[in-house]
Amino acid sequence: MTKATLDRRPTSQALSEPASLRLLMDRMLIRLGRWLRAAGHDTAFDAHRTTDRALLERAVLEDRRLITCDRKLAEFRKAPGRVVIVAGAGVAAAAADLSRELAVDWLFRPFSRCLLCNTPVEKADPASDWPGEAPANAPGPLTRCPSCGKLYWQGGHAERMRARLEAWHAGRFF
Ligand SMILES: [Zn+2]
Repeated sequence: MTKATLDRRPTSQALSEPASLRLLMDRMLIRLGRWLRAAGHDTAFDAHRTTDRALLERAVLEDRRLITCDRKLAEFRKAPGRVVIVAGAGVAAAAADLSRELAVDWLFRPFSRCLLCNTPVEKADPASDWPGEAPANAPGPLTRCPSCGKLYWQGGHAERMRARLEAWHAGRFF
């Protein structure tokens, strides 16, 4: 197996601005992909059962690294360094695998993207955007996905997710 190497092509991102990873997850790695979105990385999913070739072509076209559990995919010589293989035995193990292959900043921009559709979220107003009356003990702030409309409170669930991202960032994968 060829160990995946970092793609060192320059990106259009300004040098002073830390760059988001651009990833495409195969359909076995959707859960890991949600965590990457939670960390703020631009993470697309292979939602349809596309062929290996179509998946790789999409990764090249969109300038994304393809993250897969499928060892056969790494044998494509067409796109060296484009494919990263993770074992996929549970989300934490897969995250640890990925961190060994790529410099993943698990605290890049937590909760800046919609977990459902990957779109950057925007600040929302609880008074006007929350359906019905906003709960009195609502945690803040509220964000909204401009694409699919999903609302996110930065509450207890987000705090638990952040604790896990912090642990992963420190190299403790659970
Ligand atoms: Zn969305």
